[in-house]
Amino acid sequence: MAVYNIVTVPDPILRQKAPKVEKINAGVLRVMDNMRDTMYAADGVGLAAPQIGVSKRIIVIDPGDQLIEMINPQIIYSEGEQTAREGCLSVPDLVGWCKRAQRITVRGLNRNGEEIEMEATDMLARVFQHEIDHLDGIVFPDKAIQTKKI
Ligand code: ZN
Repeated sequence: MAVYNIVTVPDPILRQKAPKVEKINAGVLRVMDNMRDTMYAADGVGLAAPQIGVSKRIIVIDPGDQLIEMINPQIIYSEGEQTAREGCLSVPDLVGWCKRAQRITVRGLNRNGEEIEMEATDMLARVFQHEIDHLDGIVFPDKAIQTKKI
C-alpha cells in the first residue's frame, strides 16, 4: 500500500495535458495501485494520475460500490445536462457548481490492456468528466458557474 500526497493547485502538473499511456507495464500498474490507495485514504470518489504527480492518462473512480480503473479514457458519447456541486482533493478550499453532461459513454483500457466501455449517468458521469478534465489540465473552478470558499 502506498499513499501519496495529493498535489494541489497551483502545482503546474495539474495544468499539463497528460500524454497517453503507450504500454501497460509494471510501472503503470504500480501507479494505478498507488492512485487507488491514495483515493481511498483521502476518502475521495475519484482520482487522476496528475493528482499524485504522474502525468499520464489514468483515472480511478469509486462511486461507493465498485472500483473503476481506466487507462486512456475518452468520452465517446454525451448527452443532456446537469448542474451540481463539486469539490476536488487538489482544490481543497473551494466547492463549485459545474455544468456537465448528464449521460456519457466512456471508452478506455483496463489494467489488462483490454478495451472497455462504460455508460454513466448522474453522479458517476460527473466524476468521469471531472477526472478526465484533470488529464487535460482542467480543474473544476475553470468550469464552475459559481464557487464558494470552504
Ligand atoms: Zn479533482
